Amino acid sequence: MIVTGKSKLLGVIGYPIEHSLSPKMHNAALEYLALNYVYLPFLVSPENLKRAIEGFEAISLVGFSVTIPHKQTIIPLLNHVSPIAKAVRAVNTVAWSSQGWQGTNTDVAGFISPLLSLSKNWTDIKPLVLGSGGAARAVIVGLAEIGCRSVDVVGRQLEKLKFLQTSLNEAALDIEIHIHNWNQREHLITKTTLLINTTPLGMEPHTELSPIEEKFWNNIPPDLIAYDLIYTPSPTLFLQQAADHGAKTIDGKDMLIEQGAAAFNIWLGQDAPVEVMRKAMYG
Ligand code: NAP
Repeated sequence: MIVTGKSKLLGVIGYPIEHSLSPKMHNAALEYLALNYVYLPFLVSPENLKRAIEGFEAISLVGFSVTIPHKQTIIPLLNHVSPIAKAVRAVNTVAWSSQGWQGTNTDVAGFISPLLSLSKNWTDIKPLVLGSGGAARAVIVGLAEIGCRSVDVVGRQLEKLKFLQTSLNEAALDIEIHIHNWNQREHLITKTTLLINTTPLGMEPHTELSPIEEKFWNNIPPDLIAYDLIYTPSPTLFLQQAADHGAKTIDGKDMLIEQGAAAFNIWLGQDAPVEVMRKAMYG
């Protein structure tokens, strides 16, 4: 793509930002559709967040992605926040509009997209979510959206688990949230057919780790779906263990691609070329 005087700007803010895969994915999509846009990584420290957003308005940035550590702190700086981002309490996509900066959360759409492609009835499936941080919130909002009526969540800190439960209950989601201590996962894994890792266990550089010890895998149901939100490495040890024991697996890269595609649709007002984005990500 040749940058011209008419080129428009998109980007991603984070701190750090060098590891981000989003520029690769979005620039491949923009180039494929011959759209005169450029998607850039912006290193923005927490103390510079407000100034960066004011600067983006001044230079007419069309929209941007938001990653760690800004997903929560950006909320009060925006003119409008979507109900889904309010429920998740995090914004990962911002677009400029006539009403100013509009924030939303496409992690929910990104998370559910690979599940919806399985065309299953999720009503009677009780997923098990490992971890209770920011990504777990998007996962639970997504599980409610696809029709799961109940979910088990395991975590290390009771206070964090309780906060997750009460704050998501306040969002009036149509799903019952049951919280358990981290060491209950050995028992709960025998009862679920959808197991989701939202912890960073197994993420680079600690690729030798898995949230589920090897011996627990012998007890999984035969029709288990294992979903890891981690996208580096791809696949993780968790997904390799799951596959070795006959489970179907979903890679975090698929969620990353689909959340990016949903953001692309918002900024450009047209469907993203998902297969082109997938090729850019999987190489
Ligand atoms: P986060 O807010 O820091 O939450 C991480 C959770 O994992 C917390 O509940 C934490 O427990 C738990 N955890 C961390 N280390 C643990 C350990 N050794 N044992 C047990 N639990 C542990 O992070 P996040 O934003 O939710 O992100 C989590 C993962 O999801 C990251 O790998 C991220 O890259 C990935 N993610 C992927 C996508 C995608 O598009 N594929 C999107 C969003 C996030 P404590 O609260 O006890 O510390």
